[in-house]
Amino acid sequence: MSEEKKIAIKKIQATGHMRKIMADYFYEMDHAVKDGSPKIAWCTSVGPAELLLSLGFLVYYPENHGAMLGSTRQAMDYIPVANSVGYSPDICSYLTSDVGAFIKGETPLSRVYEGIEGIPHPDVLVYNTNQCRDVQDWFSWYSRKLNVPAMGISTFRNIGTITEGHLRSIEKQIKDLIPELEEISGNTFDIDKFRHVLGLSYDCTQLWKKVLETNMAKPAPISFFDETIHMGPAVVLRGTETAVEYYKVLLKELEERVANKDGAVEDEKFRIYWEGMPIWGKLRSLAEFFIELKTAVIASTYCNSWIFDSFDPKDPFMSMARAYTEIFIVRDETFKEKYVEDMVQKYDINGVLFHDAKTCPANSNNRYGMPQRLEQNLNVPTLTINGDLNDLRCYSEEQAKTNIEAFIEQLESK
Ligand code: SF4
Repeated sequence: MSEEKKIAIKKIQATGHMRKIMADYFYEMDHAVKDGSPKIAWCTSVGPAELLLSLGFLVYYPENHGAMLGSTRQAMDYIPVANSVGYSPDICSYLTSDVGAFIKGETPLSRVYEGIEGIPHPDVLVYNTNQCRDVQDWFSWYSRKLNVPAMGISTFRNIGTITEGHLRSIEKQIKDLIPELEEISGNTFDIDKFRHVLGLSYDCTQLWKKVLETNMAKPAPISFFDETIHMGPAVVLRGTETAVEYYKVLLKELEERVANKDGAVEDEKFRIYWEGMPIWGKLRSLAEFFIELKTAVIASTYCNSWIFDSFDPKDPFMSMARAYTEIFIVRDETFKEKYVEDMVQKYDINGVLFHDAKTCPANSNNRYGMPQRLEQNLNVPTLTINGDLNDLRCYSEEQAKTNIEAFIEQLESK
């Protein structure tokens, strides 16, 4: 396949709007750091952000910074720096690239946003281990380095049926955070504010879900690769009016595309489910490659991870405990397999691509026979590619593309 050919990725018109709200978000935090108010909380991507926002914190997400380091390919400069202080190349490459960048005193934020000199200094670090243990180790590193308190929720893992016992435990852990957070923020917890923020997060998440579901249409209006970018506000701005307004705009654009049968991929022939982390440094190259193959990558576990159906302002603590416990990554193999099967049917998928991300076992679901079982149960072909979210030393572009081409040929012959 010719590398010379120019492939056009269709532009999402809402992108300008998204860039503006993301810039506002980072500038607001930068001003707060300079003014000393409001206080800044760092939070893991599926941590108790709504509680922090209700207490008046501005919330910063290191994983979002990790993804930026990956997509700008700067991660490769920083991972060895973290390795040299004892953080293994085998652990989360968001962690190692972020810590390495901090040690070197560099960030893409200062290149993208004029006047921002560094990442926002935290007043508190709040994690939830629902996704993996690495986040706790990551925040503990900063806690020691910056002498800032780290606290969080230690969750259950590998859950089949969620029980009252699971939820009561998580609910208590969320409530137990409040006294120290009140002291750090200087604000008193207000249940009505908490309900309000949770309501906004719910609205955001429902709109995001509708955005993703526009891809049930044929042709699908947005690619997985664009979704990973437009997911940004759901990750860092959920719990705000800004995110809700943004997804109304994006949804309208995508609904118009559906009505006009304007697909992300011209002459869409095949529809692929992406299971696992994105390969941040290769989004564009993969997006173009799939367009050339007339194949639309249209649904993913990753982008679905910011759908929190259970948020309920009437029962804020328990519903938050449920929302952050019932997500895919927390669940057992049986749940996960059924989930992917449902997605295959919902989106009328022709093939499932598993990304085995070397440094993120929690998001690499190919390792215990799931691809083979899916092929057996649903008669749907699967492909596993080896790679990583940020560490491109684990990814061979040539090999991945050869395998993907062969996979599409297999779909064609089917
Ligand atoms: S889930 Fe994976 S990518 Fe995310 S913080 Fe944990 S190890 Fe890193």
